[in-house]
Amino acid sequence: MSRMMQQYHDAKAQHPGMIVLFRNGDFYELFEDDAELGSRVLGITLTKRDGTIPMAGVPVHKLEHYLGLLLRAGHRVAVCEQMEEPDPKKKIIHREVNRIVTPGTVTDDVLLDPRAPNHLVALGVGKPGVFGLAWVDLSTGHFSAADVPAPRLSDELSRLNGSECLYAESLTALVAQAAGSYLPKSRVARPDWTFDPSTALAALKTHFQVGTLSGFGFEDEQPCLVAAGAVIIYLQETLKASLQHIRRLRPHRSDALLTLDEVTRRSLELTRTLRDSQRDGSLLSVLDRSVTPMGARLLHDSVLAPLTDPVAINGRLDAVEELLKDHALRRNLRDHLESCADIQRLTTRVSTAKAGPRDLSAIARTLRKLPAVKAKLAGRRAPLLQDLEKRLELCPDIREVLDKAIEEDPPHIAKEGGVIRPGYSAELDELRALATDGKNWIARYQAQEITRTGIASLKVGYNEIDGYYLEITNANETKTPPEYKHQKTLKNAKRYYTPALREYEEKVVTSQDKSRALELQLFLTLRDQVAAQTPRLLNTADVLAALDMLAALAELAAARNYVRPVLVDEPVLDVRDGRHPVLDQILPPGTFVPNDAAFGPDDGTFWLVTGPNMAGKSTFLRQVALITLMAHVGSFVPAKSAKIGLTDRIFTRVGASDELSRGQSTFMVEMTEAANILNNATPRSLVILDEIGRGTSTYDGVSLAWAMTEFLHGTIGCRALFATHYHELAQLASALPRLRNYNVLVRELEDEIVFLHKIAPGNAERSYGIHVARLAGVPEAVLARAAAVLESLEKQHELPVTAAAPDAPVKKGNVVLPPEAPRRKPKLKPQISGPSLFGEAEDAPF
Ligand code: ADP
Repeated sequence: MSRMMQQYHDAKAQHPGMIVLFRNGDFYELFEDDAELGSRVLGITLTKRDGTIPMAGVPVHKLEHYLGLLLRAGHRVAVCEQMEEPDPKKKIIHREVNRIVTPGTVTDDVLLDPRAPNHLVALGVGKPGVFGLAWVDLSTGHFSAADVPAPRLSDELSRLNGSECLYAESLTALVAQAAGSYLPKSRVARPDWTFDPSTALAALKTHFQVGTLSGFGFEDEQPCLVAAGAVIIYLQETLKASLQHIRRLRPHRSDALLTLDEVTRRSLELTRTLRDSQRDGSLLSVLDRSVTPMGARLLHDSVLAPLTDPVAINGRLDAVEELLKDHALRRNLRDHLESCADIQRLTTRVSTAKAGPRDLSAIARTLRKLPAVKAKLAGRRAPLLQDLEKRLELCPDIREVLDKAIEEDPPHIAKEGGVIRPGYSAELDELRALATDGKNWIARYQAQEITRTGIASLKVGYNEIDGYYLEITNANETKTPPEYKHQKTLKNAKRYYTPALREYEEKVVTSQDKSRALELQLFLTLRDQVAAQTPRLLNTADVLAALDMLAALAELAAARNYVRPVLVDEPVLDVRDGRHPVLDQILPPGTFVPNDAAFGPDDGTFWLVTGPNMAGKSTFLRQVALITLMAHVGSFVPAKSAKIGLTDRIFTRVGASDELSRGQSTFMVEMTEAANILNNATPRSLVILDEIGRGTSTYDGVSLAWAMTEFLHGTIGCRALFATHYHELAQLASALPRLRNYNVLVRELEDEIVFLHKIAPGNAERSYGIHVARLAGVPEAVLARAAAVLESLEKQHELPVTAAAPDAPVKKGNVVLPPEAPRRKPKLKPQISGPSLFGEAEDAPF
């Protein structure tokens, strides 16, 4: 094996489970299995080294791009660099892994989504049925932990949407069984000792320099602390950098948060759409008017974890209201915030020794904005704004030193020079003056030599290889002074040097080298100085994030004409002229039809909503859930008025979700979700059921839906909305006192229907399935046949297996051939409201 391959294998062995990118000249090479994986994931060409070893490479200048692709595919990468210049005399270049990039520990801006958190998660086990969960967003230093009962594990994991997950190697099977598809793609089975309670706890205590974690609100035996310790051990190993920006471990108190399970978060499309998992079209995308990534991330977290404490919610609402009413304040604040950099992530880069000169100048620029922000907040009424004003640290000392030291627009890389301002270091100024003097002398030298030699085109030039030289064109060769020493011959000119030129060159180069080295040194010292102030900077970043979120919510409320929700203790819900926050923004202005929703002792607590497909049932159901959720986030809501009883959980289960990838049948998924609701809903919960029991036979389906309705209405008594096609359920209204029938109005015009999208009391009369099928473009022939089948069903209660219509399908063997499309458009008069499979349905009131 060649020595280079030996080097490669050593790097692989030291970084188990990682892809090694091995620097070789202008490429980072991948070998063997990594090469094959690379060619698949990165789309790069697979070749062979020495005709046998699979190899693939990426050009050095595209490293970040390919790192991004590898991270997104869930891989962890070790970059093995050439640590010295290639030397033809040496057989092998020294190489070392000097950078490890993993999905959960990456802090480079280009590899992160600025508007979403990036979580590294660790999972430990405690008592039977309890998992210890810890998660950190390394890019901001937010570190939290909680013990999670097994049934809630998937909800928590999906909320965190981690990009990398750690667990003890010996528990691989158990973790896979408990969390399965909810685990991030990047899974790291860690050596068991890193999850050993005493080792992990010791690592945690050493990191925070505390004797007990009780000061953070934990008890020392909590399993989540073991997971947290394992995170610290992993970070120390992987980053080999200071973790001082991780200042505390926060206990995650799920009882102070409105619980949203994974299904609910997904089906309400809180941060991603159901269909294509995009941010665009999600609730977050329409709520987010933040002007900084810090505010965007806070809103992201807040939408996934709304509050339940009325004091905290009203605190936010008061602040939003004040910012809403005071246009000038809001505009001003947002202008200032907009020019603030992401000092949360920048500070992290500083404290992990990754920040460059531009990062420091961005921090300086942001600190300069702070006095204006603080001044704007002075004397505000809302206690939360007052509190933020108090907490906003201006960090004048950091600002002063950065302002003095760092150039306004420095280069990316510190060792290039041009980072430190004149006047900051006398020594640096001196070296620079020397360099400038030398350069000036050289410029004067050119003028002097032109006069002396009479060669007008004589010039002094410079390049890295030749240094300074005198260049004379061939036409003037005869005039060359004899003391010029020949250096190089070009096509049309010759290059020379003189001892004087060399002497000044030496001065320039030496002082330049020295000044660059000094600048780098000064920069690193400065960075350490700033790093030492990490807690203050992060505290300020948190304040800016909160301000940005509140101002963004106020901006949204102003732009969309939202109203402040009134939160009350009783389990009621009274929303007048509510709108769906997303559709309201997407549809052309004025086209969204607002609807009321009223739940309470007098209005009933269980609404049964019927109506044809496409009428707007789902929209209404989600709208109620979203308005409730937004109110708990502390946002104003899209309605004329909204009184909302404090809610402990929102459950939603909508249509057949695409769960087949999780290896369960649609019906099984539906029932699992229903079971979760029935087992966990409390009188304070809001339950949204959009179609239930459809994945089985009609009889089964109706019976299940019926029984679930009775249970939610009677045994639990929570606020519930149930959209269904089972018109038969409407009959329950006569038996269940708090159940109300509602339907979505449609108007029938000839054989067309118009959706009015208006919710009205009463049960829907018809399903209009065939009308909707026509809208969807189902061929007329099929529609006509369906109408005939429907008629037969309704009149004779049987399927017309033998009584095919004149132009019905012709059965040939086992193949049913479609009929010719009729030339005349058949008149459809569906009669689904007639005698149903379960007897007479209630008449609709319209
Ligand atoms: P359903 O659940 O009854 O099948 P949806 O709620 O999915 O119907 O609504 C179908 C479409 O109707 C939506 O995509 C939307 O374009 C439109 N829609 C629904 N509700 C409204 C409304 N209140 N105002 C305007 N358009 C609406």
